[in-house]
Amino acid sequence: MTQRKNTKGGLPPESLSDDGISVPLMAAVEAINPEFADLSARLRFCPKDGRIWLDEQRMLLLHLSALAGLRHELVTSLGIPAARGLLTRMGYASGCKDAQLAKRLRGNTVQAFLAGPQLHALEGIVSVETIRAEVDLETGHHYGEFLWHCSSEVDAHFAAFGMSAEPVCWMQIGYATGYTSVFMGQPILYREVECRGAGSPHCRIVGKPVHEWDDPNSDMIYFQPDGLASLVEREQSPAEPLPAHSEPGFIGLVGTSSGFAAAHQLLNKVARTEATVLFLGETGVGKEMFARTLHASSKRADKPFIAINCAAIPENLMESELFGVERGAFTGAVQSRPGKFERANGGTIFLDEIGTLNLAAQGKLLRVLQEREIEPVGGSAVRRVDVRVVAATNVDLRKAVQKGEFREDLFFRLNVFPIRIPPLRERREDIPLLVRHFLTKYCERYSQTVAGIGDRAMDRLLDYDYPGNVRELENIIERAVILCPDEGMALDVGHLFAQGGEVISPFLEVGHNGQLTESSRPQTPPPSSSAGSGVPVIDQLLSSDLPLDTLEAMIIEAAVERSDGNLSEAARKLGLTRAQLAYRYHKGKGESEG
Ligand SMILES: [Zn+2]
Repeated sequence: MTQRKNTKGGLPPESLSDDGISVPLMAAVEAINPEFADLSARLRFCPKDGRIWLDEQRMLLLHLSALAGLRHELVTSLGIPAARGLLTRMGYASGCKDAQLAKRLRGNTVQAFLAGPQLHALEGIVSVETIRAEVDLETGHHYGEFLWHCSSEVDAHFAAFGMSAEPVCWMQIGYATGYTSVFMGQPILYREVECRGAGSPHCRIVGKPVHEWDDPNSDMIYFQPDGLASLVEREQSPAEPLPAHSEPGFIGLVGTSSGFAAAHQLLNKVARTEATVLFLGETGVGKEMFARTLHASSKRADKPFIAINCAAIPENLMESELFGVERGAFTGAVQSRPGKFERANGGTIFLDEIGTLNLAAQGKLLRVLQEREIEPVGGSAVRRVDVRVVAATNVDLRKAVQKGEFREDLFFRLNVFPIRIPPLRERREDIPLLVRHFLTKYCERYSQTVAGIGDRAMDRLLDYDYPGNVRELENIIERAVILCPDEGMALDVGHLFAQGGEVISPFLEVGHNGQLTESSRPQTPPPSSSAGSGVPVIDQLLSSDLPLDTLEAMIIEAAVERSDGNLSEAARKLGLTRAQLAYRYHKGKGESEG
């Protein structure tokens, strides 16, 4: 297919190509072209939390003058070839991302391919005029020729250095190359054959498969040292999160945001040591998952990992749970029972919500850390244990020390290597990854087939603040998978926020005139199941065909969560005894430690 265009901004928004196919124009974005609508609808401004999104990618509005300053520093400090390489690869990375978006939104057609030039314009980089765009994914044929008007990179180069003898649109060429290579699924090289930065009236670029160029290497050196082909390969395998390690059944950590990566890097550094680690973070950020990953990456990986939520064990049972009981220690202790520390011997013990330990248990824990000895309740002899202690807290232990509620010496023993896990609202970039991860998990668990997640629903997930963090997101997805009534249906907003009550911060999107307008989408969940009589929830549950024990498990889990893991409180909410609830809770979860 060949498309010929000859346009300038201000012409009608649409014209016919030689073969009669209606194609969008790359006119300057003075009015949002209806052909851009699917792309511009993916652009959202969320000033409240300082984020701009293009679909699932976080974007930036940069001052071109700042970019010009950076360019100047790069060239003067590194020299032209190195600076050109850096900027080319930066553009390449953007192009790859936009190609994934184009394919997701539009498929594999020429129209889909032309999303690239449109996105380049939408992002404010350059206005693109299509001269020829031949795309044949079956044969791998590609020939592209485009004119660039108002190249931002030329302006930046002019500002930094004035007129150049050579083409200067390095980043933009990187973009065109990356975009087309990912779109075509093979290495395509674009070259700038004329450049306004070198005195031409406009920039002109030509692209075709690398092997069709006579001397591709003179340009290829600006891409990665290991060559363009490997880059394309890498982009084609979807950027699934890398599990921290591959033990069967082990899910590992999911995320790529900088906040997540920082925590993960600290974890990798400390895992192979024997240091005591203290995880800090709000409820639900995944402290236990981090602790499990730490254990699995440590030399103790083949030994037990025992997790205990200190807040969920009644205070009077804490010591016997942790350190064991000698026969006859108290009425009912008819035989000796090892505590969690003994069961964790050789491995790792994870003490969640360590701030809730009473002072007596704190004293004994300090002894384990100092002497590597435990003293069972009612016993006289101490026993040696070899256990790595990993703890977590969602309270400020320093404050607890000041108030006399937490031993200062124990605090210093625990705080050897603190790792802060950011709340989900500070790592929104990870939401799409996590959503996919949980979707796969729960579709498998409930034998559901869900056709992904709708745009509106993803918008809402990206905007929500998640006071309950990753655990809350996981619960939302689990509930949505269960409530999704039709096989093969995509999840919609109604499935996600079935319980209502969440407050969504409004966001801005690009209106028809190109100006930002407040989103016209509903700010609160549809009334289908929130508040009111609650009958629709029951309707949805009844139509979900779920067995009663699954429903019970969901209700119990919700109660425990709303009680911050305090089983006694959750039991009160449900009118059960603590023991009844604990039994059903652990049965429902099918786990407690391990
Ligand atoms: Zn140029």
